Amino acid sequence: MGALAFQKSVLAELFQQPAWKIKMLTDDIGIFTEKGGTILFYLSKEGTVVVDAQFPEQSGHLIEELKKKTEQPFKLLINTHHHGDHTSGNISFKGIVEHVLAHDNSKINQETVAKNAKTEDKQLYPDQTFSKTWSEKIGKEKITLSYFGAGHTNGDAMIHLEHANIVHMGDLMFNRRHPFVDRSAGANMKSWMNVLETAQKKFSNKTQFVFGHSGEGYEITGTTDDLKAFGDYLGSVLEFTEKEIKAGKTKEEFIKTTVLPFETQWKGDGLQRPLTAAYEELTAK
Ligand SMILES: [Zn+2]
Ligand SMILES: [Zn+2]
Repeated sequence: MGALAFQKSVLAELFQQPAWKIKMLTDDIGIFTEKGGTILFYLSKEGTVVVDAQFPEQSGHLIEELKKKTEQPFKLLINTHHHGDHTSGNISFKGIVEHVLAHDNSKINQETVAKNAKTEDKQLYPDQTFSKTWSEKIGKEKITLSYFGAGHTNGDAMIHLEHANIVHMGDLMFNRRHPFVDRSAGANMKSWMNVLETAQKKFSNKTQFVFGHSGEGYEITGTTDDLKAFGDYLGSVLEFTEKEIKAGKTKEEFIKTTVLPFETQWKGDGLQRPLTAAYEELTAK
């Protein structure tokens, strides 16, 4: 092959590189990342289970890739919560998935947001919901969904695949990245700390956790240590906010803060989001 032809083939290969990544965590459980919240999938002999769907383009990529891996039908699509970077891609599963499952409030929030944005025709809503816990055996996995209270929203589910001992945390985990705190959908930072503590007690140091989002250069999987670190960060943000409120800072002054006055690995863009939420939460009547 001549140099030019070689260069061309290398270039062609570069352009063919898909925008998405698939990483297998076990023989039959993997994660898909492209744009939006991390997707988890489980390939079983009784059908495929998918947790979260990113956006329509991304879920299209995912479905194509999974069809190469299995001939089993899609049995269940679970949403960790309602946000568009987790549920917009639901629509790609219309007519091909048996059931869509989420927390009661996730469904309500998805409907409310879609109604306001006039995007109802672009939604695929859950046909099954749960309030505290939901469990079913699919293949060799017992899949259990738990709701431990308000956190990132008022409808975040943790999804435990018990045999592999893997938990999808959805956006209850922003790994080393400032979180979005959706107070318009019932988020609460104090309660979020409790939710993370409950998860640390319920699961173990052998559990592998999948995170909705992570900071540049950080993993989207981790351990209870990461849950603890995130809970500590939320606590420190609330403590700092309380001090500043007592010192008479207005919200407008406070959210201009660019550097946190405590040691933390949570850095980068978006500090205004938790600061705004903390200020509003602590001054709410
Ligand atoms: Zn998200
Ligand atoms: Zn979210």
